[in-house]
Amino acid sequence: MNSVSLGLREQAFIGGHWVGADSGVTFAVNNPASGAVLGQVPDMGAAETRRAIESCARALPSWRDRAAKERAHIMRRWFELIMADQERLARIITAEMGKPLAEARGEIAYAASFIEWFAEEGRRIYGDVIPGPTDRRLLVFKQAIGVTAAITPWNFPSAMFARKVGAALGAGCTMVVKPAELTPFSALALAELAERAGVPAGVINVVTAKDPAPVGLEFTQNPLVRKLTFTGSTEVGKILLRQAAENIQKCSMELGGNAPLIIFEDADLERAVEGAIATKYRNSGQTCVSANRILVHASIVDVFAEKLAAAAGALKVGEGTEAGVAIGPLIEEAAVEKVERHVADAVARGAKVLTGGARHALGGAFFQPTVLANVPADALIFNEETFGPVAPLISFDSEAEAVRLANATPYGLAAYFYSRDVARVIRVAEQLEFGMVGVNETLISTEVAPFGGVKHSGLGREGSRYGVDDYIEIKYVCLGGL
Ligand code: NAD
Repeated sequence: MNSVSLGLREQAFIGGHWVGADSGVTFAVNNPASGAVLGQVPDMGAAETRRAIESCARALPSWRDRAAKERAHIMRRWFELIMADQERLARIITAEMGKPLAEARGEIAYAASFIEWFAEEGRRIYGDVIPGPTDRRLLVFKQAIGVTAAITPWNFPSAMFARKVGAALGAGCTMVVKPAELTPFSALALAELAERAGVPAGVINVVTAKDPAPVGLEFTQNPLVRKLTFTGSTEVGKILLRQAAENIQKCSMELGGNAPLIIFEDADLERAVEGAIATKYRNSGQTCVSANRILVHASIVDVFAEKLAAAAGALKVGEGTEAGVAIGPLIEEAAVEKVERHVADAVARGAKVLTGGARHALGGAFFQPTVLANVPADALIFNEETFGPVAPLISFDSEAEAVRLANATPYGLAAYFYSRDVARVIRVAEQLEFGMVGVNETLISTEVAPFGGVKHSGLGREGSRYGVDDYIEIKYVCLGGL
């Protein structure tokens, strides 16, 4: 499919208008599978970002103050338009970031589910009446926080946009989004459908920029912006938190992970292998909740390793649009170099390559699905997010050791384990220092459950009924003289 049939929007969206950068400068977006240029988008900076924020502020009263039911109807229409356009939107994701088309279709359904969920949830933002002295009434109002700003990553360009915009709009807020510079077309396509669904001008704005720093600075310094939501690396999250401190801006941070997957000796091994393949190789391992370390009980490590290597070695690598492909390219050359560095470091420390271990014969940004055995806990791959299709196996001897190794990271996003012992399931789930735990299951993300991390993995939760909270201010009203 070429760029015409993908219907790519090559302008940014501010105040209900499709616009270019003040300078007229654009930057190219490439397909990581082929390197081909897909199109151009405006290279914007602080001035355009300021105008987008101001248009959000102008649009706020009419969006915030209308009936929640009316907001819900518009959002519902948006959800339906997204699902009706699922195939084209999925092809845009595959074109700009490389994931297999089947996964991209899944991402569109997942993205749409947040719009549907928050359309409904926005109608259930209830306040409280607190029992107090008889001569007064203590009331709690829940009110939209106001103008919000979002910065999204390239690995789930549609889902991260929808998870943030859905929550903001459902709560009655307006939002400016800066998508990742590698994947702006998915956000622009969703904004176009929002416009068609009847979301009023200025309620959603999308600013594109090659250099994200000036946009981030305006987001955090402009006093009109009352909340910032960010998904991306812990490193950038820290920069934004520092900047937001000056403005005492409310922040949600969905940051990096280093997920452990523990296979206990009482696990259902077939299920555990399936679960490991699903979490490790989905999106070529470029997922913040991807199992980064696979801890296996010493008594079963050899048989598990053999099964995992056979299953991983059978995964088809290729362009995401090709039938049967399970592993697309990595996002860019720098990502391949990081994966190579992690593999080389592990091998230098005594790890053994059971399958893969190198770039794929297709060249470019393709890397072979890889399984490494005997990885020591001081390897880079144990301590840093690899963001690639590499499964490092580490063996352990006791439950206590497994929990200690799993928690030995500054990150705390997702963790998984396989066990059929009910007491152990409760014990280990309680001891893992992570925001999300999958037990005998590794695909755990859904719009109805809270997504988010602890420690260096972030602040706040997205999706679910808790996901609205970050877009709400609580106001206490004391009504006296009764
Ligand atoms: P990144 O932090 O480099 O970029 C994320 C976004 O931040 C992009 O839009 C980028 O343009 C922007 N950005 C970069 N520097 C900035 C600055 N100085 N000011 C303002 N914005 C700036 O991360 P990435 O490589 O795009 O994404 C991968 C990371 O995201 C991984 O660490 C992954 O774990 C994390 N992630 C987390 C979640 C989650 O929900 N916790 C989900 C997806 C990805």
